[in-house]
Amino acid sequence: MTTADTNTAYSHALIGWLRMQWAGVWLIPLLLSLVHGTAQSTPPIAATNATTPHDFLVVQVRVHLLTEDSGSPLNSSMTAARVEQTWPAINRIWAAAAIRFQLETVLTEAARPGPIPDHPHKASPEWLRVYLPIDQRGTNVLNVYFVEQCSVNGICFPDAIVVKPRPELRPVPGGTDNPLARVIAHELGHALGLAHRLDYDNLMSPGTTGIKLNAAEISQARAQVPVLFRQVRSK
Ligand SMILES: [Zn+2]
Repeated sequence: MTTADTNTAYSHALIGWLRMQWAGVWLIPLLLSLVHGTAQSTPPIAATNATTPHDFLVVQVRVHLLTEDSGSPLNSSMTAARVEQTWPAINRIWAAAAIRFQLETVLTEAARPGPIPDHPHKASPEWLRVYLPIDQRGTNVLNVYFVEQCSVNGICFPDAIVVKPRPELRPVPGGTDNPLARVIAHELGHALGLAHRLDYDNLMSPGTTGIKLNAAEISQARAQVPVLFRQVRSK
């Protein structure tokens, strides 16, 4: 190899190195912009520090009161007036997570026909699902049905919540004196993806009057709202 050849090879190596550096100059901001873009695409959800009214997330709820012949276990004693009376207590519980459940409407409608179990208050609540009318079931809302006789205080199915108008709960220190509001609030927690907890004073403790939500639950429930529904923020 001649000196000229050596110089040429060196020049090519130098140019190659400069090209790599030049590519790097452009590559770094490109990568940064991609990372930044990914972060920006994440929904702007506040977590446990959501304490101002502007941070409240709103979830619409449609309530269905079932009418049936007198004596039917589906016939609910629940009234629209009692629903409206109970609702503020539900939102007081969920204010800890800055989530407000807005009562969209209260409907009265007939249950779907079919045989009723001999002992509906003891039967698995699964039997109820086929009787829940779907004609007026809303999309982009949570649907809550009141059924008089149910073997549990409330249950959250994938497509609907069922609640018994007269639930029975075990009182615990710090718990609410409004069992109906607590049961509805508990089932709404399931609808937002929360699981049961053993802490007796927690909202997600089964069968107690507990109403507390921990930081992880607040964060999880808030993150679930825009996943399930079109996001609406209160002003
Ligand atoms: Zn539960």
